[in-house]
Amino acid sequence: MGGKNLDSVQYIRCSITLFTMAESTKIPKSVVLYIHKRNTFYQCRDCVLAKAQANRCALMGANIPIKPIGTCGAWLQRKGNIEVPFIGGYTKEELGYEEVPEGYSCGHCEEFLPGEKDCKKVDKHSPGDDPGSIESGGCCNRWEKQNEHEEVS
Ligand code: SF4
Ligand code: SF4
Repeated sequence: MGGKNLDSVQYIRCSITLFTMAESTKIPKSVVLYIHKRNTFYQCRDCVLAKAQANRCALMGANIPIKPIGTCGAWLQRKGNIEVPFIGGYTKEELGYEEVPEGYSCGHCEEFLPGEKDCKKVDKHSPGDDPGSIESGGCCNRWEKQNEHEEVS
């Protein structure tokens, strides 16, 4: 009986260890640059580096067209009327540029687990925005397009 209880305790400890290991194998928010900014779907139209009504990007220069529904890994939220001059020298491939009309929040990401406010890849308990959770309004650079019937606004 005592031995059986000991086995149970060891089983529980083992389960906790495995659970902790599974959690810790997720990627920290800081590694994937997890952010949660208000009133945006993280598109070029809201990026401080966008120019010409978000049809050009300061980083790519004046000769490479983009769209307001684009985004990339360098997205920075627009603030006020700041106008960044053309810098140029970066390509769409280098910046990870892509276009998705519905935007790039966690609520539109294949990895999002809405019922648990969690992510299949990113550790919700790691330091960063939204302590203890991954929110539908968040975003990170591991975003992946979701099937339409699964989307959460
Ligand atoms: S391509 Fe990237 S850096 Fe350029 S405007 Fe769009 S989000 Fe901003
Ligand atoms: S749900 Fe997608 S965008 Fe949000 S943290 Fe996870 S991988 Fe990143």
